[in-house]
Amino acid sequence: MHTDVLILGRGIAGAVLAETLRQRGVRVHVFDRKRPGNASMAAGGVVNPVVLRRDVPSWRAAQLLPLAQGFYTAWQQRLGITCWQELPLVKLFPTPREVDQWQRALQDPASAPFVHRHPEPEVDAAPIAAPHGYGTVWPAAWLDVPALLEAQRQQLLAAGQLTEADVAPEEIIITPDQVRIGELQARWLVRCEGPFGDVPGLVPVKGETLVVRIPGLQLSRMVHRGVFVLPLGRGLYRVGATFKWDDVFAGPTDEARAWLLERLQALVQAPVQVVDHAAGVRPTAQDRRPLLGITGPAQAVFNGLGSRGVLLAPWCAQHLAAHLLDGAALDPEVDVARSF
Ligand SMILES: Cc1cc2nc3c(=O)[nH]c(=O)nc-3n(C[C@H](O)[C@H](O)[C@H](O)COP(=O)(O)OP(=O)(O)OC[C@H]3O[C@@H](n4cnc5c(N)ncnc54)[C@H](O)[C@@H]3O)c2cc1C
Repeated sequence: MHTDVLILGRGIAGAVLAETLRQRGVRVHVFDRKRPGNASMAAGGVVNPVVLRRDVPSWRAAQLLPLAQGFYTAWQQRLGITCWQELPLVKLFPTPREVDQWQRALQDPASAPFVHRHPEPEVDAAPIAAPHGYGTVWPAAWLDVPALLEAQRQQLLAAGQLTEADVAPEEIIITPDQVRIGELQARWLVRCEGPFGDVPGLVPVKGETLVVRIPGLQLSRMVHRGVFVLPLGRGLYRVGATFKWDDVFAGPTDEARAWLLERLQALVQAPVQVVDHAAGVRPTAQDRRPLLGITGPAQAVFNGLGSRGVLLAPWCAQHLAAHLLDGAALDPEVDVARSF
């Protein structure tokens, strides 16, 4: 059986690539089995164009954000679901130093389109500690990643384009211009294996999040001070995330839960009930740029989405597809062949 592209792994990278290729009329078949520690099922889904430690735009935010917005809104319409929500993000200033830093960001032409300072009546009325005030990041958004992945899964299964199985290395048969897995043969295999990939420069970074119920909090905005608090509706909020570089596949820990709750209680002065606790592993490149490109005969990689997978994936998928199918040059900043 012939197809055009085999995709190995269907977190946000593989999912967005499959949709991008479908839009181009390319036939795909996807192999995926969720493994403990996969990044996309643990992701907060926050789409934030600002590096909040420094109040500067994240990498290529001005280009990536409108592209992501257009991509996910069109895709959710096609899937008949709502998973993309434009949502302001309120940064609570931890110290007076951040107030000055935000003031400088407001004057800087690069960050000015994303940072604002205006009253947020909902935050003012909430039991939220903001002794030094706050600023608002806008535009920003939230993508419900599990909902999107599930909707695409149903469509791919119905079309016979998804095999839910773990693919062992020996099952991948490579010839100079073809690749085969089982009975399926294609021109390209694109490895979208996230933290499970074996890619030079890839560093797995563990992150944990909590889902909490806060009956005393009515919030429709995302809030950040040390941790994100993301409204999920029905009085539930996702709180995260931690960063850890060792023992990354060990699963949820009491230590991370305590750390998250401590930060949450410094921010929200209301009783909190923990409903869920998740851990995942971010596939981060040493230089924090995506890892894209051809890695050998008939094989390519799409990895390195780090902690901003939702924002980066549509641009990366478009860029990689143009490279594989049209022979367009790869941007050296994301080329997997760069040295580490
Ligand atoms: C706690 C946490 C919070 C985060 N919050 C955000 C956020 O708010 N916003 C944001 O943009 N990003 C966030 N991220 C980052 C984001 O989750 C990642 O950038 C993104 O999910 C990476 O997607 P991926 O597809 O590369 O990897 P994954 O989601 O891990 O997908 C890889 C898939 O490939 C499968 N696979 C691998 N090898 C095989 C094989 N041999 N056979 C079959 N299947 C295989 C895996 O099981 C998995 O399903 C967060 C990450 C974590 C951990």
